[in-house]
Formats: sequence, structure tokens, C-alpha cells
Amino acid sequence: MKLPQQVLFAVDRLQGAGFACHVVGGCVRDSLLGLSPHDWDLTTNALPQQVSAVFADHRVIPTGEKHGTVTVLIESMPLEITTYRVEGAYRDHRRPDEVRFVSEITEDLRRRDFTVNAMAWEPHGGLCDPFGGEADLQNKLLRCVGVAEERFNEDALRVLRALRFAATYGFTIEESTAQALFSCAPLLSAVSAERIQAELNRLLVGDYAGRVLRQFAAVLYPVLPELEKMAGVWQYNPYHDKDVLEHTIAALESSPPVLPVRLALLLHDCGKPGAFEQIREGFGHFPNHPAIGAEMAHAALRRLRYDNRTIDTVCRLIRHHDDPIPETDAGVRRWIYRLGEQALRWLLDVKEGDCNGHAANLPPARKHELYRLRERIDRVVAEGQCTSADKLAINGDILLEAGFPHGKAVGRALQMALDMVLDGECPNDREALLAALSAQKHLIIS
Ligand code: ATP
Ligand code: MG
Repeated sequence: MKLPQQVLFAVDRLQGAGFACHVVGGCVRDSLLGLSPHDWDLTTNALPQQVSAVFADHRVIPTGEKHGTVTVLIESMPLEITTYRVEGAYRDHRRPDEVRFVSEITEDLRRRDFTVNAMAWEPHGGLCDPFGGEADLQNKLLRCVGVAEERFNEDALRVLRALRFAATYGFTIEESTAQALFSCAPLLSAVSAERIQAELNRLLVGDYAGRVLRQFAAVLYPVLPELEKMAGVWQYNPYHDKDVLEHTIAALESSPPVLPVRLALLLHDCGKPGAFEQIREGFGHFPNHPAIGAEMAHAALRRLRYDNRTIDTVCRLIRHHDDPIPETDAGVRRWIYRLGEQALRWLLDVKEGDCNGHAANLPPARKHELYRLRERIDRVVAEGQCTSADKLAINGDILLEAGFPHGKAVGRALQMALDMVLDGECPNDREALLAALSAQKHLIIS
């Protein structure tokens, strides 16, 4: 295990002062997996005041002193150092009523969620692994420390953490842990939306998100009842061979691991369950489901306390997921104007994922069109074509100079100019635009 020198320094310091100190949790797990940890947590039998005293010549932040955690800044690396502790009763499935400091590291490791997260390491004694985390890691097994149902009852967020770790690392969830996930899922209603959202995001962008959703979608139903409604909804369409939920999962897992794209795909068809209409025997469609779905997604994402920007982007991706995008420069300019370049690229990712979720007989032309559109976007952007008002060859001052009256007329003229340029009816050229606008001046000024 290769510790950054700041971490080694901190471990040495505490050990030199007569305390025990290990790196612990996620950083041990990730190191053993050959990944580089994004942060390093330390565990020690020193009390927070003792830790502060040992690092008196450093900046020490009392992050959660009550819970035993102080943050020490060592050469600008923040290190969380936490005193061995156990947690008291959990009355609300969320937070322990109290924490108590203890003297044995095994007691501290026992309160951690999964065996792969309940390992500690230090340079002299090596790995401390009382619950078989290393073997589970080798077998890619996610297993609760202790009795799964009890552990999920203490803190229901662990239910989602389990799915997140499985989706991120491709762990298989051990049988009794898996069963407890299903039986404890309703407890998720007691967990704050913020904590749920953070875990859900990481689950969705995981490399193994599809596999996890296929096996454990029902665990998410208390958090996302929209998914439950999608399950079992048959599509009665020759290009679909999966129900709406299975189609959704196949679409999501084939898409790039970008949160707005994955959120949009997760909910892109949530409007279908209420929108089915039979066209003829065995053949149906879902009129208006993108708009219905966008409304439903808006409510779902608000409930989960997503920020307005994410909500807005995801709902637009859903609303437009079935809209045709013309294969012309004018069409691409229009869509860049409407969504912005980034969101348009995401829309194509959503459309491609949607294609991938269809049956194998879907004509390949549907995807080829998307590839051509991406190339066209590249070119339209590279050529600096006008896709927004700020790229227009004229502005308000130029219009006033040309004799347009102050006031609303200028705004109307600019919008008219932009429309003409976007649609390719006039080149983005000052003289040409002024001439075209002058010809319509009576419309603009009236
Ligand atoms: P990552 O940092 O990649 O999210 P991590 O395992 O480090 O993964 P953290 O949330 O940083 O996750 O938590 C650090 C450690 O604290 C975990 O490895 C685990 O030992 C313990 N832990 C965190 N959250 C819980 C929890 N809800 N219940 C029990 N133990 C937990
Ligand atoms: Mg961590």
C-alpha cells in the first residue's frame, strides 16, 4: 500500500506520540483494488483534543469534534482523523443518538457498513481485517458487517450505499445482504433527500448501473415510485421487445456516464404508463409521453432536491427525446440556439441510448443519423456559425444608428434578424441584415 507522504507523516506523528493510528475505510478498499483513493481517512485511539495537541504546529479544524473527527491540514492536504468510536442506538434509521469513544480498533471497524469498508492498515502491522474484507474484495462481494437487516435498520442510507458500491465497482451483493436490501427498502423514506440524491447520482453514473438496476430496481421504488409504474408496462410495438422499465435500463446502461444524460434516460419514458393508446390489435403508442414525462420528472427531481439547473436540463432532454432534428445546418443552429451546444450533444446521447434500448430489429439508420448530426454540430461550431444573439453581425447600437427607433422595435428587429440567420434566410452579415430588416421596417415599427 502506497501512502502519500503527508498521510505517512500523520500516522508517524501519532504513533510517535504513543497512539495507535491506521488509515481506514474507503482508501484501504481502493488501494487494495489498485485504484488511487480520492481521500485518506485516519483512525486512532487518541481523543480529539489529543489529536489537536499532537498537531499543534499545524492547522487543525474541529470538523465534528463531538463525533470524534478533526481535520488536520498537512502541506495543504486535509486529513480527517477520527477517534475509535461506536454508535449508540438509532431511533430514526438515520443518525445515531450518540457516539461513544472506545479503545479497540475492532470495535470501530464493527460499526462500519460493509466488510470491504471495514479494513484498516498501518505501515508496521499491515492490514487489520477482522471481518474478512480482503477476501470479499477479492471475490468482489459486498457484504454487511454483522446482520444486514440490523445494519440497514440503524441507517437506511446504507441500502443505497450498497447499490452505489455495486454499481461503481461491479460487486455482487452477498445473498443475505441482498435480501435485506429488499426488505429494508421502505426505510429509505426516513432518509433525507440530499443524502439519497448523492448516492443515487453515484449509482447512476457507475459502470455497472445497468446490472444493479436490473436486479434491484425494486429497492429504489420508495425513492422513485415512477420506476415501479414502468415495470411490466408492455409497449406493443414491433421495435420493442422489453417492457418500459427494462427498456429504460438498457438505454441507461449503454449511455455515457454523465449525470444529466443518465437521469434523463432513467425518466425519459416515465410518462408512458399513463399514456398508452391502442392503435389496432397488438399495436399501440404513447401520445405526448415526452411532455407528460418531463412534467413527472420535474416533480420527481424536485422531490429529490436537485438544483434548478439540473432539473431544467434533464426535463428538456426528456421533453425533446423523440423530436426530430433536421440534418441541415439551419436545423442544427436552431437546436443549438434552443438548448445550447452541450445539452444538444446530451440530447443525441439520450436518443442513442433510447435506440440501444430497442429490439435488435430497429433500423440502424436511426443511429447513423445521430452520428451524422454529431459531425454536423462539430462543423457548425468549428465554423463559428451564428447560433445565438451575441454572435449576430448586428446589435442594438447598430440598429439605432441605422435609424431604428429606441424601444421595443430594436428587440423585435434583433429577434427577426436572428431568426433569419438561424434559418439560413439571410447571411450573418451586417449590410445584408440591415437591408433585410429595412425591407420589413413597417412590420417591425408598427
Ligand atoms: P467514497 O469516499 O468513495 O464515497 P468511502 O467508503 O470512503 O467511499 P465515505 O462516505 O467517505 O465512503 O465513508 C468513509 C468510511 O466510513 C467508509 O468506508 C465506511 O467504513 C464508513 N461509513 C461511511 N458511511 C457509513 C454509513 N452510513 N454506515 C456505516 N459506515 C459508514
Ligand atoms: Mg471516503
